[in-house]
Amino acid sequence: MELSGIRSVEDLDVAGRTVFVRVDFNVPIRDGEITDDARIRAALPTIEHLRAQGAKLVLGSHLGRPKGQRHDHLSLVPVGARLAELLDTEVVVPDDSVGDGVKKLVKDLGPGGIVLLENLRFHTAEKKGDAVFANQLASLAEYYVNDAFGTAHRAHASTYTMAGFFDDKHRAAGFLIKKELDYLGPLMTSPEKPYVGILGGAKVSDKIKVIENLLGRLDTLLIGGAMAYTFLAAQGISTGRSLVEADRIELATDLLRSASARGTRVLLPVDHVTAAAIDSDETRVTDTASIARDEAGFDIGPKTIALYRDAIASARTVIWNGPLGVFEREPFSTGTFSIAEALADSDATVVVGGGDSAAALRQSGRADDVAHVSTGGGASLEFLEGAELPGIAALRAGHRFA
Ligand code: AMP
Repeated sequence: MELSGIRSVEDLDVAGRTVFVRVDFNVPIRDGEITDDARIRAALPTIEHLRAQGAKLVLGSHLGRPKGQRHDHLSLVPVGARLAELLDTEVVVPDDSVGDGVKKLVKDLGPGGIVLLENLRFHTAEKKGDAVFANQLASLAEYYVNDAFGTAHRAHASTYTMAGFFDDKHRAAGFLIKKELDYLGPLMTSPEKPYVGILGGAKVSDKIKVIENLLGRLDTLLIGGAMAYTFLAAQGISTGRSLVEADRIELATDLLRSASARGTRVLLPVDHVTAAAIDSDETRVTDTASIARDEAGFDIGPKTIALYRDAIASARTVIWNGPLGVFEREPFSTGTFSIAEALADSDATVVVGGGDSAAALRQSGRADDVAHVSTGGGASLEFLEGAELPGIAALRAGHRFA
């Protein structure tokens, strides 16, 4: 899981060489304008380092879901323009990612020059992990660097297969992937204790593997969001109309049993913010964990917030994934934002994974007050499941490609 056996971009001797860098430039674009360039900025350390070494760069990324077809609104041309502005240099975006035209552009690059290939997912071969397409991409460069953590859980042509066309000495992780592994790796191997996990979100079924993998490692697991109701139902507590996965109640019982056998204390909400429906303006705070028959829980209540804050206050390491309530609606957002603030105030090493949790932290203006906010929601979740991500495995020395 850690970085051993994986070269860093700093270890490559790339002066005058051509380097393919898989970046994650999957940015939000509205009417041709990039509305958030954070992902482009996140790749700059790797790009700037390679340029400073005198490398020639071929950058590859996907954007959106073009399903193997060319769509003008999913072109990387605006991304190239933004990158050119940020680096104050020319960035060429050809109209494809492979072919003779692209080869010629790359061949003509000078040291520090950049070609940003057109959206890789304009080819169905990308998502299929196709070896012919991967070979075409690989033939453009002498070195392969992956810095796209957000797609590291996918075995696509540019994130996995093409790495197999480079030997160990010619493939490496970029600074962004390295930083993700520096923070996520120790969560699995050597977290400073007490180690607290906070899991929320809609469904137990999405988080089963994460819970199973974290039990025994965590000292305390705090559960919130709709998934808490399946656990409360497993304890025989009335959950009213709250979202309960009836077919997971037995599993929730097993997980609670396994947690106590493996030494992880699990805390469930002791009170809730409830309403008759998600769009009702009339809300109530329950006194206990139990919910009336015609009500549903949409957020954790004040007693639960205090309980969870206490657990966070004594933690040395925290991992947070998933909102504790329907945080998109103001009446049900207090739980999630209070926990985000408690985490920002904490001295623990706090790692936040998952798009919603990261968004809540950013909305509170406190994203800089935690140790690490993962750039990959899906990738960080799969990492917490204990799986070696294909995009990371492919960089490992001696990795055998299927
Ligand atoms: P996930 O994608 O599994 O992390 O779930 C995130 C979604 O769960 C958010 O859109 C929340 O609004 C939703 N959610 C959180 N708590 C609840 C709840 N108590 N009832 C219904 N939905 C919830």
